[in-house]
Amino acid sequence: MSKYNTPPGALKDVLPEKLESDKMRVVLLSYTADPERLCGSAAKSCYSERGASDIYREISREDASRVVSHVRDMGHHSVLEHANFTFSLEGVSRVLTHQLVRHRIASYSQQSQRYVKVEEASVVEPSSVKDNPRAHEVFNRIVEEAKEAYQKLLKEGIPAEDARFILPQGIETNIVVTMNARELWHFFTLRTCFRAQWEINQVAWEMLRLVKEVAPELFRGAGPACIRGPCPEGPKSCGWWRTREARRMREEYRKARLK
Ligand SMILES: Cc1cc2nc3c(=O)[nH]c(=O)nc-3n(C[C@H](O)[C@H](O)[C@H](O)COP(=O)(O)OP(=O)(O)OC[C@H]3O[C@@H](n4cnc5c(N)ncnc54)[C@H](O)[C@@H]3O)c2cc1C
Repeated sequence: MSKYNTPPGALKDVLPEKLESDKMRVVLLSYTADPERLCGSAAKSCYSERGASDIYREISREDASRVVSHVRDMGHHSVLEHANFTFSLEGVSRVLTHQLVRHRIASYSQQSQRYVKVEEASVVEPSSVKDNPRAHEVFNRIVEEAKEAYQKLLKEGIPAEDARFILPQGIETNIVVTMNARELWHFFTLRTCFRAQWEINQVAWEMLRLVKEVAPELFRGAGPACIRGPCPEGPKSCGWWRTREARRMREEYRKARLK
């Protein structure tokens, strides 16, 4: 793993070599059919006497991509709200989901700790802990104690919704999230940034890779702010934006916009 949470090269779709936890899964469950054709037709309908239904029927893939690219770069981003993307995030920690649900322009369905008892649940162990034998020992001892205490509380007749108060934040969970393309752009800007916490950072990069596969033009240039311009993080910046690789990426992005 590089000095940064995620290796550089967003425009080349270079992604984390592997997700930190073997159990962590990011799946694109579903998305609006033909998202670029839909957003392209909606955008075109703003400037046409014809309705979007006619335009949608006739618009070519190339034309839709061209229009999407144009409105995206113009900042006419409401058009991107027509395309929705639904992901299943599995085997992630509650630390991650707590940060994720701060993104308000989205819909969520999370595994319930009231109805699903934590029988054999794992806890996500960060590599900083795993790679340090003494830290690993402390971490696992306390996790095991917490799990035992949880089971004892259940045996005492304490409801699962109360027994869960003892569980660690790192406990694994599953969540389904739906965001539209505009909110995803915003989410990617914040969470693919190398300053974001590593778990949500890895998930965000994987979500970006998945949406780029199905809607490359909608998400061209999506990623941390530093691939489009200067880093907004000020003194907290990781400094990557000053590297030659970052400058090269911004140049590629600028050229793609001029095409
Ligand atoms: C590196 C990093 C560190 C962070 N550290 C902390 C921390 O220490 N403590 C903490 O509490 N949070 C922290 N956060 C979370 C952060 O403050 C935001 O809550 C989170 O990133 C969601 O982003 P958002 O509010 O811009 O956008 P979203 O909720 O995703 O909304 C998207 C956009 O819609 C608009 N919008 C949404 N709701 C409203 C509204 N009610 N009024 C006006 N406009 C609205 C805004 O333009 C907003 O940017 C951190 C985030 C990051 C990336």
